[in-house]
Amino acid sequence: MKLYVCMIAMMHLKSKDSLTRGKDRGVAIDMPNYFYIIDHEQGLCLVDAGVDCTHGETPVPEGDPITVLGKLGYTTDDVRYVIMTHMHIDHTLYMSKFPKATFIIRKSELKMAWWHDKCEGGYFYDHYKDTRDFKYIQLPDDVDFDVFGDGQVVLTDTRGHSAGHQSVLLKMPKYGKIMLTGDAAALEDNLRSMLVPGFCTSIGKAEESLQKIQHYEDIGYELFFAHEVSKKVRLFPEYYE
Ligand SMILES: [Zn+2]
Repeated sequence: MKLYVCMIAMMHLKSKDSLTRGKDRGVAIDMPNYFYIIDHEQGLCLVDAGVDCTHGETPVPEGDPITVLGKLGYTTDDVRYVIMTHMHIDHTLYMSKFPKATFIIRKSELKMAWWHDKCEGGYFYDHYKDTRDFKYIQLPDDVDFDVFGDGQVVLTDTRGHSAGHQSVLLKMPKYGKIMLTGDAAALEDNLRSMLVPGFCTSIGKAEESLQKIQHYEDIGYELFFAHEVSKKVRLFPEYYE
């Protein structure tokens, strides 16, 4: 199994406290936007689907999922599963480009993104309006879901930032254990300072999710934060295996 960490754009935020509630208001930060490709022997997975660069983001040349998959010798039709950590606007741009894939999303997240009964920001329907007839595995809250049944790719509930946020637990055969936190801990500072995201569906659940992420680090998972600039992380075309 291989994991590719792919950066699609650099986002520029005027105030960091939109990620770290109550801290660093007015401090501008640059934050990368990643998607991930997991090449498992039973199928190819995409985790999250990228951001468009219409709000001042700086795109990475040839950094989009279609081009990156092409460089690996794949087309979008080769992707078996699209795993969405959540469906906020900065993660959904390319969702509609994978009509042959099965999407794995929490039901509560789909409800919020598709037919929300309360007005909650962060979603952009146009990105995924053409995906309504796609195949979905709609996961309930709280359960863990083992994508391939071998424990190598497991999805775990980390809601709170959004209604049905989930994170990805990976057991890489050579490298070891990795957790893709998603925006439950967008920055390392969220975890180290126990600061919930600036935007939360539920502050209480977001705190529980930070504690859960801390637990996984405690038992040996290396954390890959969703919007952290990290010098350590191997970016595509490098990979983890
Ligand atoms: Zn995000």
